[in-house]
Amino acid sequence: MEMAKKKAIYLDYAATTPVDPQVLEAMIPYLSEKFGNPSSLHREGQDARGGVEKAREVIAKAIGADSREMIFTAGGTEADNLAVIGAALGNRKKGNHLLTSAIEHSAVLAACRSLQSQGFEVDQIPVDGSGVVNPEDLVRRLRKETILVSVMHANNEIGTIQPIKEISGVLREREILFHVDAVQSFPHLPIDVRELGVDLASFSSHKLYGPKGAGALYARQGVKIVPLLHGGEQEGSLRAGTENVPALVGFGKAVEVLMKRREEDTLRTRELRDELLEGILSAIDHCGLNGDRMRRLPNNLNLFFDFVEGESLVIHLDLEGVSCSTGSACASGSVEPSHVMLAMGKTPIQARSSVRFTLGRGTTMEEVKAVLEILPRIIVRLRSASATGRLA
Ligand code: PLP
Repeated sequence: MEMAKKKAIYLDYAATTPVDPQVLEAMIPYLSEKFGNPSSLHREGQDARGGVEKAREVIAKAIGADSREMIFTAGGTEADNLAVIGAALGNRKKGNHLLTSAIEHSAVLAACRSLQSQGFEVDQIPVDGSGVVNPEDLVRRLRKETILVSVMHANNEIGTIQPIKEISGVLREREILFHVDAVQSFPHLPIDVRELGVDLASFSSHKLYGPKGAGALYARQGVKIVPLLHGGEQEGSLRAGTENVPALVGFGKAVEVLMKRREEDTLRTRELRDELLEGILSAIDHCGLNGDRMRRLPNNLNLFFDFVEGESLVIHLDLEGVSCSTGSACASGSVEPSHVMLAMGKTPIQARSSVRFTLGRGTTMEEVKAVLEILPRIIVRLRSASATGRLA
């Protein structure tokens, strides 16, 4: 049997992305000479403040917001927590009922669970077999006590895109706050918060070639939220703590670069992704796509391979130089089947036989071809092993 060349092929861009060289370059001065504390009045402090405020303006402009509406956080998880917990506690007088989709990231689901222990009631909106929320299912679950709805723009595991504008139309009429987790969508889709009609939206830097540990929450002016962190008056007193200046500067630069190349990247990635999908479907039996074919991010392929355990497949691909994942970075490594797959009506075994490939700026046609050579061989090997194994 011919051995494949051990070549690093990274197909896990939804988990994280490498830092763009231009981003790194923009960050370096803020790790050295521009080291000041943005709250300080002297020159060093004002240099650092300038970097943070420029990043804020770039990001606000990119999503059609005012820079006063952007709260910097230490990532998407914190932005989700601040949105859900901050808005729930800030609007408690109006009601105690929240709605979220069944396929949200754990940052939203766990934040909701923590609110349940504080007297809030939370309902989940189901998704159909293709991983999409039906706004009518949402309407049926609304109550007069509903104060907040949280539905992600695009799912991190299956890449499905949710009908945000339709949902916001329903919620606006009823004056219910709407939070959207845009962590996975913003790297690929144009976002205008006013056009989408959302009140709160979460973003993360490391999904778009920026550094880890930086994120932002858009909070429409007038939306009441209470802080999670207490201390100094940073971020309009909504996020205490000295700002992570180099990371925020890097986040801003990453968004600046994104705005210049997103359209082109999207076209290229979609083409490569479709090539990979067609190749896999024609070379391998008993496999298929999880989630809607059209309503999905241009870089996402989530596939099931019957009679194969996703974790084993990920490990075998890694041994041959291909990095992918069984779903979200958080879900992989855990023995529980993905809540997203279960919500779509998959059985636990089907859920466990799924793998996610997410493409990015570094992906090439050569890599796609290499995966199409490696993957079918591994599937044959794992299936013959599983013929006597537990998934048979
Ligand atoms: N929301 C979604 C949809 C995500 O995919 C992720 C990251 O995997 C997060 C939130 C959390 O973002 P961060 O890693 O910046 O905390």
